Amino acid sequence: MPRAVVIGAGVAGLATAIRLQIKGYQVEVYEANAYPGGKLHQQIQDGYRFDLGPSLFTLPHLVNELFELAGESPEDHFRYTQKETVCHYFWEDGTRFQAPAQVDQFVLEASHAFSVKPDRLRAYLKRNKSKYELTKSLFLEKSLHKWTTYLSRDTLKALSNLAKFDLSKTLDQSNKAYWNSEKLNQLFNRYATYNGSSPYKTPGIMSLIPYLEMELGTYSPVGGMHSITKSLWNLAERLGVQFHFEQKVERILVEKGIAVGIQVNGNKVEADKVVSNMDVFPSYRQLMPDQKAPEKTLAQERSSSALIFYWGIQKSFPELDLHNIFFSDDYPGEFKALFEEKTLHPDPTVYINITSKEEASDAPEGCENWFVMINAPGDYGQNWKELKQEARKNILGKLSRVLGCDIEPLIQTEFSLDPPGIQEATSSYRGALYGAASNDRMAAFLRHPNFSSKIKNLHFCGGSVHPGGGIPLCLLSARITADLIPTPNTISA
Ligand code: FAD
Repeated sequence: MPRAVVIGAGVAGLATAIRLQIKGYQVEVYEANAYPGGKLHQQIQDGYRFDLGPSLFTLPHLVNELFELAGESPEDHFRYTQKETVCHYFWEDGTRFQAPAQVDQFVLEASHAFSVKPDRLRAYLKRNKSKYELTKSLFLEKSLHKWTTYLSRDTLKALSNLAKFDLSKTLDQSNKAYWNSEKLNQLFNRYATYNGSSPYKTPGIMSLIPYLEMELGTYSPVGGMHSITKSLWNLAERLGVQFHFEQKVERILVEKGIAVGIQVNGNKVEADKVVSNMDVFPSYRQLMPDQKAPEKTLAQERSSSALIFYWGIQKSFPELDLHNIFFSDDYPGEFKALFEEKTLHPDPTVYINITSKEEASDAPEGCENWFVMINAPGDYGQNWKELKQEARKNILGKLSRVLGCDIEPLIQTEFSLDPPGIQEATSSYRGALYGAASNDRMAAFLRHPNFSSKIKNLHFCGGSVHPGGGIPLCLLSARITADLIPTPNTISA
């Protein structure tokens, strides 16, 4: 049986392993950590369970299809519920808005809350939908780096509708064209952060992201986000994928332009196919230092990182939901600080995720598990100890002001994660959450393909390669990568 090696058990590594095992390869996954999931991991402390990384779950069918591919019923192994409210929003001036998931209801309530004409909101949402429908096949579901992609009818349709994509405007400019409300603008600008970019730089096409969330829905996995990791890992094991934990891959072995295996603990592991789920930057710099690297791609600006405080809170807050945002009063200043000054803003936008709202067992009775995150620049050697202390003070001040309650005395247990910590735990270059940023119109085309054009039998999956970061795109990268790898009996001798 031909052998495929996957480097890394992040969500894309797990999905690729599942797909290749089903395709007829004996798959072995080598993972540096003692656990699977990469960023999609959890920690339990003092009776509180915390998802460490992703908190927002969209497009659940991409998880389901892995079970279906294996001939299993997804609901026997992985369940989730759809959220009726997308997010609770808070501003310093006392404005609050609970965004309903149902689109007509959203239009009704948002037009009232932000004094905007319902027709303008509907027109905006309609345009977002058409952006998504026109581009998903080209940008999300196929390799952008194979000429066959450009011959499909979908691609030609997308290319003939380029004017609708708002590529010459920033997301902020294209949103502003629809209304005069700064707050509504902020609400829709924040979607740039879903791929670690700035709304003042990323192109207007990114308004397709709210379409995903608002019209296709947001979901909450039963057992928390970590159940995605657990259920996919279990599926892979049932299929016969072999996992090697605490085995950091040292080299991708290349002979005469062909990947022939990997080196782990000084030993050679032979393989017919090698797939790297490690961030593409260290994949080249650390695992293949002797190979010519795609310098232009590796020089791409990285996405933002994050600073997260995990707080066990001895109180319950009925005004909070699963997803909550406390906006900065200076949104442009915040993104300038993040992307230009590479520092934290004194008034950061604060995101709180509370899974105990859905899963009572995630916190002791009467308490809540707060995942408190602010966007952060990548790690460029800043003094993180100082930045973290300052940020903690600013966040506590903001939350206490807006919620009208002193938060610090309520913290029963605490730990944190910063950009260097994210890099250390997952090898993500500079601690980027989503690989390369999309602050440039050409970012999608510059992102590394799911294969090496120079080295045969070497492929890539995960948030740092096409089509990008975030769980849904990582799962799509696994699908594209596995589709590019031929079934074993069609490999030419
Ligand atoms: P990773 O999760 O980066 O895993 C890579 C794996 O490779 C790791 O396990 C690592 O140990 C292993 N590895 C690296 N080098 C080696 C080596 N040499 N040998 C062996 N193994 C190696 N996405 C969303 O969809 N929704 C969200 O709400 C969201 N929020 C986020 C919040 C935070 C704080 C973070 C950190 C991320 C968030 N994301 C979110 C992004 C999402 O987590 C990632 O895009 C996705 O999980 C990345 O998966 P991946 O498969 O690329 O690999």
